[in-house]
Amino acid sequence: MRSPYVATAIALAVFAGAALETIRSRAEDGDRSAVLRQAIDDGPARNVILFIGDGMGDSEITAARNYEVGAAGRLAMDALPLTGAYTTYSVRETDPDLPDYVTDSAASGTGWATGHKTSNGRISTTAQTDSDLKTILEIARERSMRTGNVTTAELTDATPAVLAAHVASRTCQGPADMTACPQDKKSAGGKGSIAEQMLAHDIDVLMGGGAARFDQQTMEDGRSPIQEALARNYRVIGGAAGLPLAMPGRKLLGLFTTGNMTTEWSGLEALPYPSNVARPQVCKEDHRPAGEPSLAEMTAKAIELLDRPSGPGFFLQVEGASIDKEDHNANPCGQIGETVAFDRAIKIGMDFARAHRDTLLIVTADHGHTSQIVSMPTDLDHPTGVMSVLMTHDQAPMTIAYGTNAYHRFMDHTGTQVRIGAMGPQAANVVGITDQTDLFRLMLRAIDGRASQESSTR
Ligand SMILES: [Zn+2]
Repeated sequence: MRSPYVATAIALAVFAGAALETIRSRAEDGDRSAVLRQAIDDGPARNVILFIGDGMGDSEITAARNYEVGAAGRLAMDALPLTGAYTTYSVRETDPDLPDYVTDSAASGTGWATGHKTSNGRISTTAQTDSDLKTILEIARERSMRTGNVTTAELTDATPAVLAAHVASRTCQGPADMTACPQDKKSAGGKGSIAEQMLAHDIDVLMGGGAARFDQQTMEDGRSPIQEALARNYRVIGGAAGLPLAMPGRKLLGLFTTGNMTTEWSGLEALPYPSNVARPQVCKEDHRPAGEPSLAEMTAKAIELLDRPSGPGFFLQVEGASIDKEDHNANPCGQIGETVAFDRAIKIGMDFARAHRDTLLIVTADHGHTSQIVSMPTDLDHPTGVMSVLMTHDQAPMTIAYGTNAYHRFMDHTGTQVRIGAMGPQAANVVGITDQTDLFRLMLRAIDGRASQESSTR
């Protein structure tokens, strides 16, 4: 049943919509056909901005919406005109013809970055045969596009890594972390660690955490990846105060923490019933230190540095990484705060895409995750996992349950399909049910400028 508060909010929204232009009010009365028709553009794209919400399944989006703007509210990403769902399964290392129904970020990232399925843990290499797979960022660079890779995790974590590295294991992040990838060591004729390969790609904008990986003094010539970055003429910055100094025309390496960046919000972890249930919690929204930029600030800076008035455009990946990490930790405030921060970064991208109609913008996740919105627990009926009750924007209690592992164990990903939404050229191809590997082909078609037969004869 709808609360009177929600019903009033909907009535107000409909009333406000009625005052707007015709095409808008047509959408408000429920028929979105004209809006959707207008959103379809089968032409090429000059710029591509890809937002990956790590572990941002439908329940993570819904929980963040309920908490931040209320059940009848809408997040920025909810305004994307064209949405669908895609499947995320990976394949098995021992038998690549068999699906592994629950993917990790490395295999799923390899899927959207290269168009090929691989096994969990691999970074843009094939299952079993360990061959390199060409990535969309490598293709963008061949087309003389500028490139950017931004994350709230370590820059060498799986999602940013799949765009610019080819290693057998996601653990091979820095030159001192190569135990699982002996064949990828430079001394063995390989391309080196993820940090080394990331720099070798001369990506114009790199921002995130993971400074410790780039500080390992163990490259074969005795230098660290940071020294290598300086030799490659990167401006290297270590705090938010350095962002205004970064100017177009010089490559940027921003390493804002030694490990993963700090979460935006904090709060109590989920606990077994009945702890945490009697008094709904309100999240603390001031957890990120001033020296670390927000994901929205990094996104705005990246676009400022990558955008140019003419010539080839840019490819930018922005990852909201710790939605996943806080879901693993069964920490609902951490998880929701990261989803809200990710949504703010998406809004920056959408504002740019609205002003630059030749920009393809995509928002999706790499896999589903554990958190579920469940009924208020009682002595008789409550989840067997851990749970937390939060007081939302609606001033209503919302229970989040985590049950894919035991109390104080690492909660697991899930194998569900996830949402993909888009705007701009080629965006209509996210509609319906696709697979994660189709996203690679969609982006390739957009930057290759191969418009469909229909549009070229129209
Ligand atoms: Zn994860």
